Amino acid sequence: MPYVEPGHPSELIEATGALFTRAYDAAPRVVARAPGRVNLIGEHTDYNRGLVLPVALAHATYAAVAGREDGVVRITSGDDGEPWTGAIDTVGPGAVDGWATYVGGVLWALREDGFDLPGMDVLVHGTVPLGAGLSSSAALECSVALAVCGLLGLTVDDELRHRLVRACIRAETEVAGAPTGGMDQSISLLAQVDAALLIDFDQDSSRAVPLGLAAAGLTLLVTDTRVSHALVDGGYAARRADCEAAADALGVPSLRQATLAAVEELTDDRVRRRATHIVTEIERVRETVDALAVDDWAGVGRLFAASHVSMRDDFEISCPELDLTVATAVEAGAIGARMTGGGFGGSAISLVPTERVDAVVHAIDVAFVAAGFRAPQHLLAEPSGAAELLA
Ligand code: ADP
Ligand code: MG
Repeated sequence: MPYVEPGHPSELIEATGALFTRAYDAAPRVVARAPGRVNLIGEHTDYNRGLVLPVALAHATYAAVAGREDGVVRITSGDDGEPWTGAIDTVGPGAVDGWATYVGGVLWALREDGFDLPGMDVLVHGTVPLGAGLSSSAALECSVALAVCGLLGLTVDDELRHRLVRACIRAETEVAGAPTGGMDQSISLLAQVDAALLIDFDQDSSRAVPLGLAAAGLTLLVTDTRVSHALVDGGYAARRADCEAAADALGVPSLRQATLAAVEELTDDRVRRRATHIVTEIERVRETVDALAVDDWAGVGRLFAASHVSMRDDFEISCPELDLTVATAVEAGAIGARMTGGGFGGSAISLVPTERVDAVVHAIDVAFVAAGFRAPQHLLAEPSGAAELLA
């Protein structure tokens, strides 16, 4: 199969329900889905109070939930042995193991926000590749958060979605221990179909930016290098610390308030290059939005290229597999390509004339074989809608 398929929602709802019934001997009460995402541009800018421009994927995580009377929480994905089991009033930082931490983290954060939660059985299943820089972690958190709201019978309005964004961010940063900045949870819960979401972390606001990809004859190709990246490993936190050091040295609350002229005066070479990436990347997000408004796709391609160079040379979060993907995609006909997500592996995104997609995929595969790299995986990013309650 050339592409990682998103799957059909109706089949995935059914499969998730069947897995739940097999694991827990009863049908779920609620099923919710939440999408993964790919970021068009604006990397590591979220925690610098900057701008990002992600798109929700059709690939999503499905969470099935049923309440329990006894205050017990069980968490499984159906294929990992015995469910994690604990008590609802003890889930929280340090109390949950393995990947179930993300789920326990959401339950903890919702309780911290004042929701009164019963015990429950939780099962998750889905099609977002794990650890590929496509935000399976936020898809997991947001699907569970929304399913829990369904269990509580809450109306899913805009205000609730924003509350869930904050709870899922707390789950990821305070319980799972990944110091990410909030882009992933925001796009998963606030996305709109056929659009990217421009999120401003200084204003705490977002708006849809329409993407006329089909009309322009273009496709967003995502290539997962399958080089493992783990946000909890330290590289991400080190970049975040460098950004804070730069803001401190400049005497500004965050790099959003820094000018390039001021950044160029920083004396520490590494900190200056990190800050240069952030300040120029925020500007590139603005320019991408402007280019999209007038269908200047060639301009978007140039911004992708500049973003990749900035991440490779100044922020130093690329790797040989990502650099090869980007270079090969452009040689084979992509209008632009860049690494996307937190870096240190993960995925690249290429903007490709639709009739060239298969040729670009083939060229990347061949280049990986020639370089002796493990075969990558590809998927097509169809700009999709936000997390939703299904049943
Ligand atoms: P990304 O968000 O880019 O996929 P992360 O390292 O942030 O990468 O999150 C990946 C981790 O999230 C996985 O290693 C696993 O712990 C957890 N996870 C996400 N989705 C699932 C799932 N459907 N089932 C089990 N664990 C999951
Ligand atoms: Mg993640």
